[in-house]
Amino acid sequence: MDVSVDLTKCQSYAQCVLEAPEVFELGPDNKARVLAGSVTPDNEKFILAAADLCPMQAILVAE
Ligand code: SF4
Repeated sequence: MDVSVDLTKCQSYAQCVLEAPEVFELGPDNKARVLAGSVTPDNEKFILAAADLCPMQAILVAE
């Protein structure tokens, strides 16, 4: 699974951080970013839930 954040869409709502704190954090620019090494099979369901919850549809998931 490939996970990225479209920084042009992210509006720093942090829903992703609340849903999947092991995967997403807000960077110094206040935009979400994916923590290195966090895209693991165990975290997939949290990543998909976060992508669903993002009000800006800014989380991109590809298989
Ligand atoms: S929920 Fe979406 S808009 Fe909010 S910080 Fe995460 S990626 Fe950005």
